[in-house]
Amino acid sequence: VVTLEHAKKAFGSVEVLKDISLTVNRGDVLAIIGPSGGGKSTLLRCLTLLETLDAGDLSYGDLAVTRTDGAGRAVYGGKEVLAEAKTRFGLVFQNFNLFPHYTVLKNIADAPICVQKRPKDEVEAQARALLAKMGLAGKENMVPCELSGGQQQRVAIARALALNPDVLFFDEPTSALDPELTRDVLQVIRDLAAERMTMVIVTHEMGFARDVADHLIFMDDGRVVESGRAADVINNPAHERTRAFLANYE
Ligand code: ATP
Ligand code: MG
Repeated sequence: VVTLEHAKKAFGSVEVLKDISLTVNRGDVLAIIGPSGGGKSTLLRCLTLLETLDAGDLSYGDLAVTRTDGAGRAVYGGKEVLAEAKTRFGLVFQNFNLFPHYTVLKNIADAPICVQKRPKDEVEAQARALLAKMGLAGKENMVPCELSGGQQQRVAIARALALNPDVLFFDEPTSALDPELTRDVLQVIRDLAAERMTMVIVTHEMGFARDVADHLIFMDDGRVVESGRAADVINNPAHERTRAFLANYE
């Protein structure tokens, strides 16, 4: 579904991504862990076209978003390619990022209706079904500030799913939530994993990553230090740096 090869990104003279490659196959859940400042969010922002790569080849399925030219620079596809790529993923942030003045239903249905030009009735029916699945039936006419953080985050997940993406990216989806609300949001993501939704999740929840992710990447200082089956890396890290990082969570 997603491939990235030899990705590089610098902000000024600071190299934040130093030759990152990853592949996400259909139905897979990939967890990305690592210390603060290691480049996890920058990687997700490059994958979701919120930042541009300096170098690297990024593809969504058969759609080549960037390719590296002879000088080693990433060359992006044209407007149509980028527009098509943006229909293939959804993104859920740490801080929900709902539109505060829109109702829950409008938050979910707006992009499918206005951007994807799908019929309103169909989209609203899908939005209601997604809300029910998220345990939020009956909340469609509330505005975000009337909901708890965990409920807002589940609306944000429903909003991303309403676009029918091939892959869903999460950047620390529970780090702004207290433990009880965290559990509800993680349960929603577990349910999606059980349905074989393809997902890439940056998280500090190691137990969750071990249980839910198929593969895991440990990133530090802009590099993939270690990657493999999630349970193997967490239970039995091969690198000293990974071991030291995981020791913080025991
Ligand atoms: P955290 O776990 O704290 O969220 P992270 O792994 O997500 O960390 P990033 O947010 O990707 O790390 O940041 C990696 C590095 O890139 C940091 O040194 C950060 O200061 C720098 N950085 C990120 N975004 C920008 C930007 N827009 N301009 C300049 N530097 C940036
Ligand atoms: Mg981050």
